[in-house]
Amino acid sequence: MNDASGPADNAYLGQGEAARLRTILEGTRAGTWEWNVQTGDALFNERWAGIIGYTLDELQPLSFETWLTHTHPDDLVVSEKLLQSHFRGDTDYYECEARMRHKDGHWVWVRAYGRLVSRTPDGKPEWVSGTHIDISASKAYQEKLEALQTEQQRTIERLEKMASRIPGLVYQFEMGPDGTIRFPYASAGIERIYNVTPDQVREDATRIFDAIHPDDHAPVREAVEASRVSGEDWICEYRVIVDGEIRWVFGRARPDYRKDGRTVWYGSILDITAQKELEEKLRRIAVTDELTGSANRRQFMKLLSREFLRYQRNGPDYAVILFDFDWFKRVNDRFGHNAGDLVLKETTRILQGELRASDTLGRVGGEEFAILLPDSDLDSARQLAERLRQTIAQHRFKGMEETLHGTITCGVAVSDPEDDQSNTIMLRADKALYRGKSAGRNRVETFHSGDNAR
Ligand code: GH3
Ligand code: MG
Ligand code: MG
Repeated sequence: MNDASGPADNAYLGQGEAARLRTILEGTRAGTWEWNVQTGDALFNERWAGIIGYTLDELQPLSFETWLTHTHPDDLVVSEKLLQSHFRGDTDYYECEARMRHKDGHWVWVRAYGRLVSRTPDGKPEWVSGTHIDISASKAYQEKLEALQTEQQRTIERLEKMASRIPGLVYQFEMGPDGTIRFPYASAGIERIYNVTPDQVREDATRIFDAIHPDDHAPVREAVEASRVSGEDWICEYRVIVDGEIRWVFGRARPDYRKDGRTVWYGSILDITAQKELEEKLRRIAVTDELTGSANRRQFMKLLSREFLRYQRNGPDYAVILFDFDWFKRVNDRFGHNAGDLVLKETTRILQGELRASDTLGRVGGEEFAILLPDSDLDSARQLAERLRQTIAQHRFKGMEETLHGTITCGVAVSDPEDDQSNTIMLRADKALYRGKSAGRNRVETFHSGDNAR
C-alpha cells in the first residue's frame, strides 16, 4: 500500500483511519485515486494501474494527465460535467462510468466514485479522492441484455407488422386453475374482429366474448375446455357480430401447461368471411341448375334418397310429380333455342310460386322436371299436378317476338313400402308420364299397377 500513501500533507484523514480504509479498498479490489484540482497532482494505487494492465511504475510520472490520456474522450466530457456539478454542491458525490484504454488496446469500463474532500482557504475545490472498479464484465452483460431486448423488441415489431397484413390477429390467452381467463397479449388486428383494443381485452378478457354470436358462445367455450383437457390444439370456426354485421372467423391455438396450473394458449384468429361466402356460393352452384336456378338432377336425387330413408324409418308418404314439355322441339324450331330457354326459366319461376317451401323442384332432364312432395299422398299430388298443368297451359310466355303457349304432361307416383331403391318412384312417375303422352299430352296421369314399373 506504500504506492498510494496519499497526498503529502494528508490533512483530511487521520493516519489510522486512512490505513483502515485502504485495507477495505484492497479487499474490494478497487483502484484508488486522489487528485489535487488546483495543482493537477494525482496519486493512484497499484490496482488503479492494474485495472488497465499497467504497473504504477509504467505510468510514471503520475498526474491528472494520466487519467486524461487513458480515458475515452467522450467519457471525459461526461466526467467533467459530473465533477463540476459535484463541486457546485448539486450532487453529494461524483459518480461516473468511463472507458479506459487497456495496455492491450481494448477498452475497460470503470465505474469511478469520488468525493471532494478539501477546499482551498478561498473556497475552491482542492483534493478529490475516490475509487475505480472494473465493471467491464457487468457492462458486457448489460449490453448483451440490452441487445437481447432490442432484438426481442424488433422481433415483436416484425411479428406485429406481419400480423397487420393478415386479416386477423395473433394472441396469447390463459386460463387459471380456477377458470379465470386473461389475454396478456393480442395484436392490433383484434380491433377489426372483436371491436375491442388490445388494452381493453388485456384489462378485461371477458369482453372478447361480447362480440361472439350468441349461438356460438357455448361451442367456442366447449372447444376451449376440450383443448385444455386434451392438450390438443383449440380449433374453432364461429361467428362474431361487429357493428351489426356477422363475420366468420377461424381460430387455432396451441395449449401449453404451466407448473402453477395455468394453461396458456398461443394462437391466431383469422377473418374467413370472404372464404365462407365463396364456399357458400360454390355449394349453391353444385346443387343448382344453371339455366333455371332450380335444384339440379344430382341434388334432386339426393333429396329424394333422403326422403326415401326417412320413409323407410316409418316416415310419412311422399309423392313425385314428373313432367315434360309437350312438343318442345317445335318450340325450339319455331322460336329458337333462346326462346325455349326462356320458357324453361319462366316455368321454374311460376312453379316455385305455387309450391310449399318443403317441396323441391328439380330439372332432371333437358325440358323435364320433377317435384318432390314430402308428406303427401297420391291424390293431393295429383291435384297439385293438375293445378300446375292448368297454370302452364294458361300462361302466355313472352318469347322473342311472339307470345307463345306451352303445355306439359305430368306423371304422378307415391311412395310404396315395397320400394327398395329411392329412384323406383321415379320409374313409376315416368310410366305414368309416358301413358299421358300416349293419351294425347297436356294431362296428368297417376301411376297404377297396370303400368308395372318394377
Ligand atoms: P314430347 O311432347 O314427346 O315430349 O315432344 P318433345 O318435342 O318435347 O320431345 P322430347 O321431350 O323428346 O324432346 C326434348 C326437346 O327439348 C329436345 C330439345 O330440342 C329440347 N330441349 C331439351 N333441353 C333443352 C334446353 O335446355 N333448352 C331448349 N331451348 N331446348 C331444350
Ligand atoms: Mg318433351
Ligand atoms: Mg323430354
